[in-house]
Amino acid sequence: MQPRLTVTVNLDSYLEGVLAGEASILKSREALEAMAVVARTWALRYRGRHQAAGYDFCSLTHCQVFRIPENSKYPAAIVGAVQKTRGKVLQYRGQLADPYFSADCGGVTESAGDVWPDKNIPYLQSVSDPYCAASVHSKWRQAIPRETAASVLREDQGLPIRGPVRELTIESRDSSGRARRLRVTAGQAWLVDANAFRYAVDRRLGWNTLKSNLYEVHLQGDVLIFAGRGLGHGVGLCQAGADQMGQMGASYEKILARYFPGTTVATLPSPAQQDADPVVSSEHFELAYPESQQQWVNGVLSTLERCRKELGLNVADLPARVHVQTWDTTAEFIRATGKPGWAAGSTDGNAIFLQPLRTLAAKGILDQTLRHEFAHVAVHRLRASGVPDWFEEGLVLYLTGERIADDRDALPSARSLSQAISRAQSEAETHAAYARAYALVRDFAARRGEDTLWRTLERPTPQDLKWLKTESAKPPAPSRTNP
Ligand SMILES: [Zn+2]
Ligand SMILES: [Zn+2]
Ligand SMILES: [Zn+2]
Repeated sequence: MQPRLTVTVNLDSYLEGVLAGEASILKSREALEAMAVVARTWALRYRGRHQAAGYDFCSLTHCQVFRIPENSKYPAAIVGAVQKTRGKVLQYRGQLADPYFSADCGGVTESAGDVWPDKNIPYLQSVSDPYCAASVHSKWRQAIPRETAASVLREDQGLPIRGPVRELTIESRDSSGRARRLRVTAGQAWLVDANAFRYAVDRRLGWNTLKSNLYEVHLQGDVLIFAGRGLGHGVGLCQAGADQMGQMGASYEKILARYFPGTTVATLPSPAQQDADPVVSSEHFELAYPESQQQWVNGVLSTLERCRKELGLNVADLPARVHVQTWDTTAEFIRATGKPGWAAGSTDGNAIFLQPLRTLAAKGILDQTLRHEFAHVAVHRLRASGVPDWFEEGLVLYLTGERIADDRDALPSARSLSQAISRAQSEAETHAAYARAYALVRDFAARRGEDTLWRTLERPTPQDLKWLKTESAKPPAPSRTNP
């Protein structure tokens, strides 16, 4: 028997490991969030699957692939996706849904009932998917010699085939267009289940030799050419399409609604989340915190609500609800966010992550940090793509009126401002980068007016983008094309 290691983790840590194992290639935050909801729903639905063996889940594809990174530190995007969706599950008629997913549906998802007859489920019917059309697996070709196909069928499927396959055609397809049964001719003719054929080929010739059952096949000389689309069974959420939807601005709720029509995202009542931190809410914020930080919690929420009023933005531009998370220790904050220890807080654009409230309060920077991070969330929402992090940082500092020492020349000249903002190598470099970002934004506002600042954030002209890239002190001349 294989040596086995059983680890005990809370639900959110399990989800981090599953996202690392199943979804680490996703680039969009919203797609990762959708996968976090899928993974949580699956985990709660199938909890205790290996109860007889004394644990809930295995770490393989049989359950969900679970991976612990070498340094035990998950990417910030994964941690953020789990936190942002904390307690959220996919439901159908008030029950946990059965949330399947695959890598790439090839343009049309598969109806679960066509693969597994006992899973003819309303929200797992075939839907068309225009979003994965440009993905890496959207089109594939595989050549299998006729001789090889014959030996696969003979050795793996026990078909009494003598010579090479003379003809292989698709006898029937299912509702999504995937091959269901194949007709194989070699002397006599046999009908072969397309799934059984695909798995046999994969076992003999290597995993994903045939990436899906969504293909055409024809004979070219001595070789069978399979021309197909997609990767995997295609049931449920299509990761490639979800990734594209997210990059186009769809929320995780939208993504889930597309692939699981008729389902809703619900927030779990407590028992299933009992190992999670308590959460308190105000009108626009929710704060998850370990018990040790209890005494600062109400102050934090009222400060955040005040910052929201005082920021001077249109209410329509402000986020309706912001998730805030804090930790027991600085080490946990660093582990969860990937930020350096000198950062008081951080945000992923939607959620605010804070050093232990106790630490911030002791340093006298709690209110300032809350104002700063909330301004980031507000500014980030309006920021157009192509506008760099340093401009957001400078604008945040400009808005909050934080006092910044004017030591902008302290930045090592070999490092760009963008590098220093996103990956500072020391606390001093962070300070220098902030000072320079602030000075650039302040001078820009002085020359061109505050309105232009916002316009540049939301709708930058090509000249603006060029200037933002050069990071130079001289802002672009006013443009008349984009008032
Ligand atoms: Zn398992
Ligand atoms: Zn797809
Ligand atoms: Zn900042």
